[in-house]
Amino acid sequence: QAKDAGRGVYRFYDSDLDKKTRAVSRLQAQMFKSIQKKHFVLHYQPIVETETSKLVGVEALVRWEHPGQGLVGPRTFIPIAESSGLIIVLGEWILKQACRQLKEYQDSGLEHLSVSVNISAVQFNHEKLFEHVAAAIDQSGILPSQLELEITESTLMSTATQVNETLQKLSELGVKLCVDDFGTGYSSLAYLKRFPLNRLKIDRSFIQEVLRNQDDAAITRAIITMAKALRLEVVAEGVETDQQFAFLRNHGCETVQGFFVSRPMPGEKLLQWHQRYCASHDPAGAD
Ligand code: C2E
Ligand code: MG
Ligand code: MG
Ligand code: MG
Repeated sequence: QAKDAGRGVYRFYDSDLDKKTRAVSRLQAQMFKSIQKKHFVLHYQPIVETETSKLVGVEALVRWEHPGQGLVGPRTFIPIAESSGLIIVLGEWILKQACRQLKEYQDSGLEHLSVSVNISAVQFNHEKLFEHVAAAIDQSGILPSQLELEITESTLMSTATQVNETLQKLSELGVKLCVDDFGTGYSSLAYLKRFPLNRLKIDRSFIQEVLRNQDDAAITRAIITMAKALRLEVVAEGVETDQQFAFLRNHGCETVQGFFVSRPMPGEKLLQWHQRYCASHDPAGAD
């Protein structure tokens, strides 16, 4: 069959690949322009304490206000930003913007709020990362301990030799370090004792079925127990129902985020959301 098709198939495949390459280059060019024109925005998703329901942090999540396509999610463009190197300038902007926004929230009464920023592998391994983080903190006036960087297991396991050094420097600066999507990477657990980490974020894939699937429940409980034994904080992502929330609270998971609490929202919506949230959760202690 393949032989019959002969050169035709080859040429078809070739031009198909060509099309893909051109589409990627076009996206890269558009992204480059969008960075200059500030067509990227950050949305913020609340992170709340299970015990008290109190808002303790927000995760910054980038979106692209694409000229023709509306709001584009990061899963489409972060990989392209990574492969083209654009992630460095984009990531630098994200860090600055997230810290600046946090300072605004703090000045508006959310004094103890912290912000979590996702750092991709290429960005983490770039020589300028530390400088960019330190500058974002300095220029915004937040405390280093109020910024958390989310790093995936694969970033931690990369063979890049400076991983440990970078983590140590960030940790000495006072920045918090969180392992994102915990439990989904191909990794050994040895890095948990080797690196100066502060928090594990249980991946959404375990939370989704946590009430129906015994294995997911067992893994989730095990992660919480292990984190506590290692003096790491735990946060669960992708919490969509009150039962999932209750399960996590009952098993000692300190903080959660997910659609059950709130979807990510534009920065200017958070304070209003918080007022409504306090009114419906703790009318007495909404301070
Ligand atoms: P992530 O860091 O694991 O972020 C969580 C993702 O899950 C977000 O998708 C969020 O909107 C979504 N989510 C939150 N709660 C729920 C829920 O209850 N149910 C469901 N189904 N989904 C929920 P988003 O914003 O599309 O981001 C996707 C990924 O893109 C992120 O995964 C992160 O890896 C990456 N990303 C996002 N923003 C940035 C950024 O500023 N820099 C970098 N390097 N990567 C980013
Ligand atoms: Mg994250
Ligand atoms: Mg995650
Ligand atoms: Mg995830």
